[in-house]
Amino acid sequence: MRNKKIVVITGGAGFIGANLCQRLVNEDYHVICVDNFMTSSLNNVKGLIKDKRFKLIEHNVSEHITIRGEVNYVLHCASLASPADYLNFPIQTLKVGSLGTHNALGLAKDKKAVFLLFSTSEVYGDPMVHPQKESYWGNVNPVGVRGCYDESKRFAEAITMAYHRMHKIDTKIVRIFNTYGPMMRANDGRVVSNFINQAIANKPLTVYGSGNQTRSFCYIDDLIEGLYRLMRSSINDPVNLGNPGEFTVMQLAKLVLKLANSKSRIVFKALPQDDPRQRRPDISHAKKLLKWSPNIELEDGLSRTIAWFKK
Ligand code: UDP
Repeated sequence: MRNKKIVVITGGAGFIGANLCQRLVNEDYHVICVDNFMTSSLNNVKGLIKDKRFKLIEHNVSEHITIRGEVNYVLHCASLASPADYLNFPIQTLKVGSLGTHNALGLAKDKKAVFLLFSTSEVYGDPMVHPQKESYWGNVNPVGVRGCYDESKRFAEAITMAYHRMHKIDTKIVRIFNTYGPMMRANDGRVVSNFINQAIANKPLTVYGSGNQTRSFCYIDDLIEGLYRLMRSSINDPVNLGNPGEFTVMQLAKLVLKLANSKSRIVFKALPQDDPRQRRPDISHAKKLLKWSPNIELEDGLSRTIAWFKK
């Protein structure tokens, strides 16, 4: 049976967006990808360009969005999501999180479409509660260098709930924890892409600070399954998606060296300002409401990602 639901996805040529476009086309959705390629790549969607179910619009979603015809879902994924990117482009980061979300919500309202906001574990800031549950309000420095990202996503959540309450839009909010896998940008500055590319090139792995800070790393295929379930669910409250396995940055560095069979050294660099000390999702909500939990262990996911970057 053909599905034929029409999905607009902002930031659809980025790492998560492009993986989701591919999944949605596989499920027979018609996908309209809107992207300005600021931190994404045409390469990520080039396999889809010839598919009749896929359409690409080059546009900055911080400007008004016009789409002709029916739309059933608006997935607002566009963002500068790597700390290195949002430190370099704080104003664009604030704009896409605020103005971009407003425009995407306006489109969903106009089309009577389901709306999904791609939010982040960064709304919890440097968390005082561990692991992080959706009910935790967070510990964010609004005037620090990460504030542009964290506060724009917190604003994005607030305006999404306001549209839900005032305009009765069927909105969903996902808080995505660190995710990795194929189609990450090699030079996006994040820890997994940095370590893998450094290890492959036999260059030193750059550990920031002591390396005792923790993160929880989710493989992209697991995340996409969770996103797919959430967009079709009846849930309106925020949902954490991530892998609850928690590792120090140093453990990650050693694992990457082993799996890439690399002789690289580890060097220490300054810890960036406001770098969260610990992060792990509480996913009991997603388990219960979406019957979702991640299946791919870090070793397995890293091996697949190393193989992809080698190609
Ligand atoms: N990090 C690191 N070396 C790198 C890049 C990042 O040690 O080359 C650390 C960073 O300081 C943070 C963690 O790895 O503690 C995760 O950083 P990332 O930029 O991937 O994302 P974040 O979780 O901070 O948003």
